[in-house]
Amino acid sequence: MPEPSLPVLNSKEMNCVFCDKTMFYSGENFVHVCLEQSHGTLCYFEPDQCWFAASESTALELGKRGLKFHFIPRSVFENANLTEFVCDYKEEDNKSSQVS
Ligand SMILES: [Zn+2]
Repeated sequence: MPEPSLPVLNSKEMNCVFCDKTMFYSGENFVHVCLEQSHGTLCYFEPDQCWFAASESTALELGKRGLKFHFIPRSVFENANLTEFVCDYKEEDNKSSQVS
């Protein structure tokens, strides 16, 4: 089975602190994104090393863990133009769940 040899980009790959899934990385925005419904939209902005949570309980949990975070209402994510790649991601997710 051919396995694509990826360059070592560990700094651009990280797992979600809540669900442990690999987060989607947008190099354009320097932001990691996880969209698991269990914790709501969650972003990690690399330059600031700061988390952005759309769910208040998720934001509180970040605070408990001593992580730097901002609580952002969903509308702000939409205004920040993050919805474009969010939509792409969801489409892929839907396709894969239909296959399996
Ligand atoms: Zn997650």
